[in-house]
Amino acid sequence: MRPIQMVDLKQQYLAIKQEVDVAILDVLDSTAFIGGKPIQDLAAGLNDYLGVKHTIPCANGTDALQIAMMALGLQPGDEVITASFTYIATVEVVALLRLKPVFVEVDPKTFCIDPEAIRKAITPKTKAIVPVHLYGHTANMDEIMKIASEHNLYVIEDNAQAIGADYTFPDGTKKKTGSIGTIGCTSFFPSKNLGCYGDGGAMFTNDDALAEQLKMVANHGQKVRYYHEVVGCNSRLDTVQAAVLKIKLKKLDEYIAARRKAADYYDAAFAGHANIATPYRAPYSNHVFHQYTLTLDGFENVAEIRNGLNAYLAEQKIPSMIYYPVPAHRQQMFASFGGADFNLPITDWLTDRVISLPMHTELEEEQLQFISSHVLTYLNSKK
Ligand SMILES: *Cc1c(COP(=O)(O)O)cnc(C)c1O
Repeated sequence: MRPIQMVDLKQQYLAIKQEVDVAILDVLDSTAFIGGKPIQDLAAGLNDYLGVKHTIPCANGTDALQIAMMALGLQPGDEVITASFTYIATVEVVALLRLKPVFVEVDPKTFCIDPEAIRKAITPKTKAIVPVHLYGHTANMDEIMKIASEHNLYVIEDNAQAIGADYTFPDGTKKKTGSIGTIGCTSFFPSKNLGCYGDGGAMFTNDDALAEQLKMVANHGQKVRYYHEVVGCNSRLDTVQAAVLKIKLKKLDEYIAARRKAADYYDAAFAGHANIATPYRAPYSNHVFHQYTLTLDGFENVAEIRNGLNAYLAEQKIPSMIYYPVPAHRQQMFASFGGADFNLPITDWLTDRVISLPMHTELEEEQLQFISSHVLTYLNSKK
């Protein structure tokens, strides 16, 4: 059996090595390291794939979120409603821009922001909602878009973990996540569902004027070279990364299918177990399984058992991860923003119970069998 990894980038690379190596050598040959043709090709490919008018590539997913907030003209003190149960990047940029992060609860089944909690948190200062499609499950976008239009708020989708996911509206229309809100943001970090071989990110929008604004902010606040209209930043995707992503975008649906197949295997292995909740799949979401995350329950000392499972698996050379061990509102970073004043029992409840198992495009049945049987062995020994 091949060694088990959380994400097996090597095996995935080997499967596309010939095509990728040629594409990278072409970039070297062209010496168009910045702004080369693969960048425009990739943006056009993503527009097609996501059904969106504009893709603006940038340096990473964190920048994408920051540039989105800058381009929308959010001002210090403006309130941004988002989940605490997320990767820190989502909320870090809010604080960096001196906006006010308003942390609300997630739905304990989907791990995504709870629309009712958003409603309760709206004040006259609220300007934007940032739903995160966490672990590859889509947030309840129909409700979120309704709330946003009732209260005239921007929606910035953090799509870093869900690129390629379809969201189905109640009337049956489907849209890709990242194409629904005012702006969609994604990351091409190597381990993401569409990852490059370094850092990368992108923003998506259907609004022509906003697309211009995003491009300008990402490029030192200039539309015309050396004439700087606004304070911007320098955030570019480089040509080598775009060349890799062009190839991987063609395979994205195949990659998603492989992840879903692995998830189906795990689901069947853990079905009906009294202490394990397998990932819920809401009818509106086709989960793209950036992570396969179990929620443990029914133990008195559940956090201890969850951490024990993590350690036991490590002894068997099976990696597993706690995403994330400390929710954003409890991070020291947010102490001066009143983070600890937020009362988020569901977020805390999940933080004690979640554990993510290896999930990637190259998992083999033998590995899945080995992983799931060890999870069961450990948990059954704790009953
Ligand atoms: C990875 C990730 C980001 C940030 O992406 P980077 O490219 O690492 O900056 C933002 N939000 C979420 C939810 C992520 O998983």
